[in-house]
Amino acid sequence: MTKHVVWFRRDLRLNDHTALAKAIEETKKDDELLLLFHIHPDLNKDFTVRHDYFFQTLRSFVEDAEELGAYVHFIEGDTEESFKGLIEEYGMERLYFNLDETGFGYERDQNVTQYLEDQGVEVYRFIDHHLHGAEEVQKKSGGYYKVFTPYYKQWKTLSKPAVQKVDHAKLKEVSVDVRTDFKAGKEAYDSLIQKTEADFEGIGEQAAKERLEAFVDEAIYDYEDDRDFPAVDGTSRMSRFLRTGAISIRTVYHYIEDQVDHRKNTEGVESYKSELAWRDFYNMIYYYYPNSNDEEVKEKYRGLPWNTDDDLFEAWKKGETGYPLIDAAMRQLNESGWMHNRLRMAVASFLTKDLLIDWRKGERYFAERLVDYDPASNIGGWQWAASTGTDPVPYFRVFNPTRQSERFDPHGRFIKEWVPELKDVPNKKIHDPSKMSDQEQEKAGCVIGEDYPKPIVDHKTMRNRAIEMFEDKKNAD
Ligand SMILES: Cc1cc2nc3c(=O)[nH]c(=O)nc-3n(C[C@H](O)[C@H](O)[C@H](O)COP(=O)(O)OP(=O)(O)OC[C@H]3O[C@@H](n4cnc5c(N)ncnc54)[C@H](O)[C@@H]3O)c2cc1C
Repeated sequence: MTKHVVWFRRDLRLNDHTALAKAIEETKKDDELLLLFHIHPDLNKDFTVRHDYFFQTLRSFVEDAEELGAYVHFIEGDTEESFKGLIEEYGMERLYFNLDETGFGYERDQNVTQYLEDQGVEVYRFIDHHLHGAEEVQKKSGGYYKVFTPYYKQWKTLSKPAVQKVDHAKLKEVSVDVRTDFKAGKEAYDSLIQKTEADFEGIGEQAAKERLEAFVDEAIYDYEDDRDFPAVDGTSRMSRFLRTGAISIRTVYHYIEDQVDHRKNTEGVESYKSELAWRDFYNMIYYYYPNSNDEEVKEKYRGLPWNTDDDLFEAWKKGETGYPLIDAAMRQLNESGWMHNRLRMAVASFLTKDLLIDWRKGERYFAERLVDYDPASNIGGWQWAASTGTDPVPYFRVFNPTRQSERFDPHGRFIKEWVPELKDVPNKKIHDPSKMSDQEQEKAGCVIGEDYPKPIVDHKTMRNRAIEMFEDKKNAD
């Protein structure tokens, strides 16, 4: 009799799960299979909105597993210590998990694998979180891509991994319930669940599936046109489900391939698939630049003289910059834990180029506020906007926040939804309310400087300063 353990981490689902599917396959009739979740103290020092969402997803996963007749066991504490207990007290012989290729998860996985193998445990690790792992998309001449377009060209030519069928009937048969031996872990889990409080729109595997189906039924065909307009529900909103692993990226990809009606215009579908490739791309970049959470990928832009003005940073965080689209975006983030992609680009550009504040501060703030916070994509997005990344926006192409607002929220619908003090501002002035006359301000019930701030910086001046800052650094070396 062999004791198999599947370690769930950010793959909280019971379908299309590589490690689970393989473990079930390997488990013989008299063997045991134990489902495991490890609560690491470092990961839960702070309890942000992302933790809230993650642990609500975990609860949903635990309940779904119970419905299938399988039970999740918890261990908590330092990784090595907790796994030591699992060997000594439970007698684990084989461990299966879907590996992390970057960041904290990568370090943890390397260390725990080494430790367990030294203890004689067989460890099976799988690439599961991405369509293509960090080393899979290589140049024909060898080496990795630094620019997205050629990467994507190559990415498209590679065949995509198939959906991993999980045998639920066999799972029920072989999975063990020894939860009474895992009391400390269960208490740690319960105390985390007690901390959850927010009311989120969609949680868990079923919600992920429904959202995907709804998106592929309709919006995907208009994705190319609608994806830039935050007032339109034109994107898939799959990021939170992909982040927690409530749905597998393979399921998303193949569902689209199978369900899309090719008689229709599929430009939107192609464009959507390229976004999934960006996710793989940034995972690869973080893999090859493991310090990029703290260090500019472009060496020549390390050590830029960023502005340390805390008041400006606070105004940005609160959505009180006097630039309506920026403010609406930041309030959407603060209140809902999500922000539209177009706006992530706009606010990141605003922080780094209009306020000249260090991209690392913005990256960390997003980490505190996003339910879909994914280090690789977030670091990638921030370094892109700050012009310091591997394939970034050039430093001299600075977004104009007012122009962005006119283009992507032409009627101010999004702005009015999130910045209520501007709700009666005439549409002509919604992108720059400080241009309202005294009479207009009175009529709109919005006095500039009292009810809504004046722009905290002048875009033209700051744009020139940003360009100068980059040029000085470039020329200094
Ligand atoms: C500064 C900045 C920070 C970002 N931080 C994150 C983050 O922490 N987590 C995160 O998942 N995405 C991040 N993104 C990427 C993107 O904004 C979100 O993935 C997207 O807004 C999520 O909404 P959606 O699921 O409706 O996206 P859709 O437009 O429907 O896209 C589908 C999926 O493709 C992937 N995707 C789309 N755009 C990107 C992109 N530019 N980079 C990587 N993957 C992408 C996501 O998994 C997304 O769920 C960031 C972008 C920027 C510019």
